[in-house]
Amino acid sequence: MLEFDEVLLAGLARDGGLYLPESWPQFDAADIRALRGLSYGELATRIVSPFVGDSIDKAELASILADSYDDFGHDAVAPLTQIDANLWVMELFHGPTLAFKDFAMQFLGRAFDHVLRKRGERVTIVGATSGDTGSAAFEACRHCDAIDTFFLFPNGRVSEVQRRQMTTVDSANIHAIAVDGTFDDCQDMVKAMFNDTVFRDELHLSAANSINWARIVAQIVYYFHAAVSLGSPDRPVSFSVPTGNFGNVYAGYAARAMGLPIDQFIVGSNVNDILPRFFESGSLKMSGVTPTISPSMDIQVSSNFERFLFELYGRDGAVTGDAVNEFRDTGELSVGDNLWQKARETFSEHRMDDTETKAVIGDVQASSGYLLDPHSAIAVAAARANKKDPSVPIVALATAHPAKFPDAVNDASGITPSLPPALADLHEREERMVVLPNDLARIEAYVREQVSLKGAA
Ligand SMILES: *Cc1c(COP(=O)(O)O)cnc(C)c1O
Repeated sequence: MLEFDEVLLAGLARDGGLYLPESWPQFDAADIRALRGLSYGELATRIVSPFVGDSIDKAELASILADSYDDFGHDAVAPLTQIDANLWVMELFHGPTLAFKDFAMQFLGRAFDHVLRKRGERVTIVGATSGDTGSAAFEACRHCDAIDTFFLFPNGRVSEVQRRQMTTVDSANIHAIAVDGTFDDCQDMVKAMFNDTVFRDELHLSAANSINWARIVAQIVYYFHAAVSLGSPDRPVSFSVPTGNFGNVYAGYAARAMGLPIDQFIVGSNVNDILPRFFESGSLKMSGVTPTISPSMDIQVSSNFERFLFELYGRDGAVTGDAVNEFRDTGELSVGDNLWQKARETFSEHRMDDTETKAVIGDVQASSGYLLDPHSAIAVAAARANKKDPSVPIVALATAHPAKFPDAVNDASGITPSLPPALADLHEREERMVVLPNDLARIEAYVREQVSLKGAA
C-alpha cells in the first residue's frame, strides 16, 4: 500500500491504473452531525484527514486547507442559492479562475509544495488543457517554488477569458504554451513527454490532471458541506452534476460510500453523451467529439469512470483492468444487465443540446433572476427532469461563473455577465505566452530551457 504523499506525486500508478483507497473512511450519523456549523476549511480537514493519514501533519493539513479556500470570492466558499422549490444551486465558481476546478487545484498545488519541500525535491508539471484546468493549475502553483508548471493549449481555440486567465499569471515558474494544433495534439504531446523516459526523469515530470487522487479527495468535501447545510444526516439529498471526466460526480459517489446519505446522482451532459448512453444501456461506446457551448464537457473518454467501474465490479482490479483494456482496444464495453441495473439504482442521466441549454439559461433568468453558465444550466435542467421524490432536496452543481462564457450567456439571456471584482481588469492585464509548432522536439527544448534558466537564477 502507498501513502498519500506517494500517490499525490505519482498521479498515475506504474501499471497504468488509477489509485483508490483500500477502504472508504466511514462517517456515521453522529460524525456527520458534528460537521454542522464548521467553516469550510474546518469541515475540509475532517473529511480529508482520514485519506492523508500520517503523510501530512494534522495541524499542517488544517493550515493548507484553510489557505486553499481563503482567497475565494465568497465567505461561504461553496454557497447554496435556492432557485425553486427544493432545488438549490451550489456555486462552485468563487475560486480564482471562476470554475470548480479551483477546489481541487488549490489544495493539490499546496499539498505538492508541502510534500516536495519536506523531501527537498522539485518537479515539473506538464499538462494539456482545453481551458479550465490550465488556469486553475497556474493559479494554484504560482507561489509554489518547488514546481515549474507548463500547460499546452490549442492556439486560438480557447475562449478569450480562458486564454487571459492562463497568460496573465505573472510568475516565473508558470508557462503558457499555445500550440499550433488541436487539443488532442496537445494531449498527445504531453503523453509523448511522459513516454520519453530520459526527458521525464531529467525534469522530474509530474501531472496534475483529473485522475490525480488528491483532486477527488478535495472534491468530496463540498458534497458533505452542502448536505449538512440541508439537514444531513437526518434528511437525504440528491445531486445533479454536469459531467465530463466523471471526476466531480465520482467525488459525490465517494461521499456516499463514506456514509453521507445521498439519494440520487443525476449525470448531466451535452451532446457528447457517452455517459448518458452508458446509464441508458449498460454499454460504454466511444464516438466523436462535437464542440458545444459547454466546452469543458466536450469529452468522450471519461478518465475517472474507471474508478466507478472498479466499484461496480466489486473492487476487483483484474476484472476492471480487463474491461478498461477492452474499451481501449475496441471502443466499447458492456457491463451486463445485473451491474447495469445496479448502476441505475444510484444514477440517472440527462443530455441537452446547445439550443436546449440556452433556453434553460433564458428561462431560469426570466423566472428567478438567476444567471447560469452553460455547464451549470445543464445541471439545473437535469435536476428538474429527474426529480423522483419531491420531498428530497436536489443540489445542482454550478461549475463555472457565467462571466467565463459571456457570449453563450448573452445569446441565451440578453445579459452580459460581468467579471467579479478580483478579475475586473483581466482584459487590461499584460499577457505572457509562447506560440510553438506542433513539434515534440521544439516543445521539449523549450521546457528544458525554461527549467534550467530557473535553476540558474
Ligand atoms: C471540468 C469541468 C466540468 C466537468 O467536470 P468533470 O470532473 O470532468 O466531470 C464541468 N464544468 C466545468 C465548468 C468544468 O471546468
